[in-house]
Amino acid sequence: MSEHALPAPIVQAPEGIGECLFALIERLYPICRSITGDGVRETLSIIGEHLPLTIREVPSGTKVLDWTVPPEWNIRDAYVADSSGARVIDFKASNLHVVSYSMPVHARMTLDELRPHLHTLPESPLMTPYRTSYYVETWGFCLPHAQLEALPDGEYEVLIDSTIAPGALTYGESVVHGRLDDEVLISTHVCHPSLCDDNLSGIVVAAHLAAALCSGPTPRFTYRFVFAPGTIGAIAWLAANRECVDRIVAGLTVTCLGDSHPFTFKRTERTHTAIDRAAEYVLDQASVESNVIDFYPYGYDERQYNSPGFRAPVGSLMRGRHGEFPEYHTSADNLTFVGAAQLAESFDVLTRILGVLDRNRTLFNTEPYGEPQLGSRNLYAALGGTTIPDAQLAMLWVLNQADGDTSLLDIAERSGVPFDSIVATAALLERHGLLTDAI
Ligand code: ZN
Repeated sequence: MSEHALPAPIVQAPEGIGECLFALIERLYPICRSITGDGVRETLSIIGEHLPLTIREVPSGTKVLDWTVPPEWNIRDAYVADSSGARVIDFKASNLHVVSYSMPVHARMTLDELRPHLHTLPESPLMTPYRTSYYVETWGFCLPHAQLEALPDGEYEVLIDSTIAPGALTYGESVVHGRLDDEVLISTHVCHPSLCDDNLSGIVVAAHLAAALCSGPTPRFTYRFVFAPGTIGAIAWLAANRECVDRIVAGLTVTCLGDSHPFTFKRTERTHTAIDRAAEYVLDQASVESNVIDFYPYGYDERQYNSPGFRAPVGSLMRGRHGEFPEYHTSADNLTFVGAAQLAESFDVLTRILGVLDRNRTLFNTEPYGEPQLGSRNLYAALGGTTIPDAQLAMLWVLNQADGDTSLLDIAERSGVPFDSIVATAALLERHGLLTDAI
């Protein structure tokens, strides 16, 4: 299908969107985020410059579903220094060098004593891994394997100036009200430190989409954006918003949208819901490489939203797939791994998916017994300027299929008529009283 037949986006991309997305990644990249702490607050405060964002603080110790909000972790400095005092591993050079949630430590020890606390990737010896110890009391450093191999024996000074203390878990929310109370959830995790694709790309795409929707035409659905730490943040949001979950008609987690891999759409647990249909249709029509994969209970926070108590139909839009590219969760997921062009393309695909979702409706033909007479309603004249046979055929398809069961997207897929033409035809027929929302 040619480019012009692509469904329209829910909102026009702002001028230079790719560069805007990349610039925001650059700004957020140095911040040391974790599942709690000032890094998340700083990140949300920067996002809040772009859109109206409500910040929520959930105190440590709060029961959230089957979990408990952990104490808050903050870190000011960390290093391993050799006997001359030179920092051989330095948190100030990259926050990936410290295992997230490391307990405070200040000690002198030999390399052998230090070794169990050092994490490397022997198979990728130049990359620093990203490691966490959220729910285990320990501390550690991460470094390239090649650097570890080159460290001389001897005594080292180890310092981690961190605190793990009662505080709060922070998440942010932004709502763009539509004509309906039914909600579309866009969720992204905000807990990774200096990693660009996973997950700064998701954060910046969601933030700019929310900002664009705020200043664009009112959508049909209400769009809720949740910026929360992975797992515990989504669980805290779900615990506080159980009534809101019932209004979710569709959703997506977004992450890994800045790399050069083909798109991946991960289906909802229910498999054939509105968001599944919209995403698969757009990816099929668009001139981008893509894969559609079935739901599985791992990956990102879609697994919380799709849990059996909620079963909110939330899929996931990515390019590179969770855990399946060598840069994933390493220092190689940096500013050179993501690009403005890929980010812009991701924004485009996402807004077209939401465009289909938002405009897809299921209508009734008000004259379902035989074909309604189009000529007497001047409907042939209304087709002026278009190719009559195509437009007429689109009209006949819509009238034939508008049985209250079949959506406009169903009609587009069955007829092969582009979705936007079906939507425009339906709007025309609605204006002439031949289609209605409900009978
Ligand atoms: Zn991750």
